[in-house]
Amino acid sequence: PKIHRRIPEWLTIKVPRSRDIGKVEDLMRSQRLVTVCEEARCPNLGECWTKGTATFMIMGDTCTRSCRFCAVKTGRGAPLDPQEPQRLADAARELQLKHVVVTSVNRDELLDGGAAHFAAVIAALREALPETSIEVLTPDFRGRRFAIETVCAAHPDVFNHNTETVPRLYRTVRPQAKYERSIDFLRTVKETAPTIYTKSGIMLGLGETEEEVLQVLSDWKDAGVDAVTLGQYLKPGKGYLDVVEYVHPTRFEHYKALAEEMGFLYVASGPFVRSSYNAIDFRHKYLET
Ligand code: SF4
Ligand code: SF4
Repeated sequence: PKIHRRIPEWLTIKVPRSRDIGKVEDLMRSQRLVTVCEEARCPNLGECWTKGTATFMIMGDTCTRSCRFCAVKTGRGAPLDPQEPQRLADAARELQLKHVVVTSVNRDELLDGGAAHFAAVIAALREALPETSIEVLTPDFRGRRFAIETVCAAHPDVFNHNTETVPRLYRTVRPQAKYERSIDFLRTVKETAPTIYTKSGIMLGLGETEEEVLQVLSDWKDAGVDAVTLGQYLKPGKGYLDVVEYVHPTRFEHYKALAEEMGFLYVASGPFVRSSYNAIDFRHKYLET
């Protein structure tokens, strides 16, 4: 494939902002809540928030891991805040969110990796907004089955666990994670709670080949994954992994067609796609009956 080193024009769009966004930001500050949308300066912010979805990051802003593509700081996190589930649910109610995505840093020092905290957030959201669909995007809990089962028991509508990249690149991209563990994680969710939709994603542009992308798609299929996302990796700053390639939109389309042929229920593939990009479309298609 042609290698693009400069940011190509298809990646330079302006972030649309409406006046409402400032109001949402104020609410997040006052409730001491963190959204990935803001932290990651996600280019989809205007679109997502206007459509009634947002991604919250729980369990603090410090991660026990140090993935080389991620700007979250590394260290030991503060003790979990038992009030956080309620504050998050209150904010989601105030914003009348229709689809809430909840993700977190890794908390490897906790026995359950924070699974019970995820379950508490799901329960608080259900109570506050019974009609709202809930998607969790969790760390791997070091593959501990009981932790995965704890989150399944709280029954999120969508259980997302990111694969992030192809197996060969794990050592450079996510040194503290294991490819097989992430695939097994997804399989365990499906086996434990078949009615929960499972979801995963990878970033492209890190030097992966088409064959390797196809291998991941096939491993996902084998693990019973329902929804998949493929997006462009963007370097969050100095000192992080370099972008090897800005993948052309037509290649994203190509992968989308292949994934759809393989029978995935939902495929999002494009330069701006993130794990939670347009997650609300999935709600409209599969979660509203
Ligand atoms: Fe937030 Fe995800 Fe939408 Fe970005 S794609 S604005 S992180 S919900
Ligand atoms: Fe970032 Fe998640 Fe890796 Fe932590 S585990 S460094 S939050 S990608």
